[in-house]
Amino acid sequence: MPTKGTVFCGNGMKHILLIGTGGTIASEITETGLAPELTTEQLLSHIPSIRDICQADCVQLLNLDSTNMTPIHRQTIVRCLREHYWSYDGFVLTHGTDTMAYTAAALSYMVQNSPKPIILTGAQKPIGFDSTDSKENLMNAFRCATEDLPGISIVFDNKVILGTRAKKTRSKSFHAFSSINYPYLGVLRDGILLRYIRQECGSIPHFYEELDTKVSLVKLIPGMSREVLDFLFARNDALIIESFGVGGVPDTGDFYDCIREWKQKGKFVILTTQVENEGSDLGVYHVGHRLKNSLGVLEAYDMTTESVLAKMMWILGMTRDPETVARMFYTPVAQDILWPAGQIAHPLR
Ligand code: ASP
Repeated sequence: MPTKGTVFCGNGMKHILLIGTGGTIASEITETGLAPELTTEQLLSHIPSIRDICQADCVQLLNLDSTNMTPIHRQTIVRCLREHYWSYDGFVLTHGTDTMAYTAAALSYMVQNSPKPIILTGAQKPIGFDSTDSKENLMNAFRCATEDLPGISIVFDNKVILGTRAKKTRSKSFHAFSSINYPYLGVLRDGILLRYIRQECGSIPHFYEELDTKVSLVKLIPGMSREVLDFLFARNDALIIESFGVGGVPDTGDFYDCIREWKQKGKFVILTTQVENEGSDLGVYHVGHRLKNSLGVLEAYDMTTESVLAKMMWILGMTRDPETVARMFYTPVAQDILWPAGQIAHPLR
């Protein structure tokens, strides 16, 4: 059961809700390694100067290592945001770093057009350690939650990253997240936000609670056989294939037959790349061209894999009509995809 409490109150300040979900930031040393144990009240007690920035309330929604987060937990977060949306000026969500980019992507589809900031943060070292990034990240997240920074973003290591563009790219250092194929929304210098980009938003957010989990992801490896794909297609309605380079699948080993057969059975196939930056372009090589032009797979272009996964779960939560799925997939949401809109021209075209 989530618990809620008012911890710090100042007058005439923005009212921010801290939603705790666990992660390293809230972890303590146990006999079996770090585990989330601190409450949101305890987190706030480490940053007493928060009272100079805003009025903070807190909700202890979950207390998990984010490795254990599932789509059901993301739905719980969305319900919490929806329930409290009109009572606060902004939101800070503390979360484990390991799957924070997946949650940021999911929230970007499930809470669209939010005029208020919804900031995810966490840390690589627990807040109780002598050397920690927790306090700076948490203070910065609160600072950003009081600013005109609409929509979902991650605030980490003095950077503000759009929710659809974040990826954990370092497992240990404080500079844990990168913004993929998109600039930072802003940076913090000495606790001051320098905002470079303001997301477009509406005056009322759209909340979506449905996520369909029959979406899977496979990373192509040299020599993989079609049986791996068959196994995943049989158990899911959409399969994201992380292929090599700008994209393609081997033209040996029945991959094309496999994709054609499962597409005829109504499955959705999305091709993306396992290369972190610059995205896919299936039309460039023979091994990719046919997938796009005669097999009709969807292409991720410059989207992150985290966003492709979340977007497909969000879309299949509403429809399985192939034309509608394709239209929704290529329609940008929170700047998740730029190429099909023709905003970046490919030199070979
Ligand atoms: N395993 C932790 C988590 O994701 C790592 C972290 O928070 O940095 O919950």
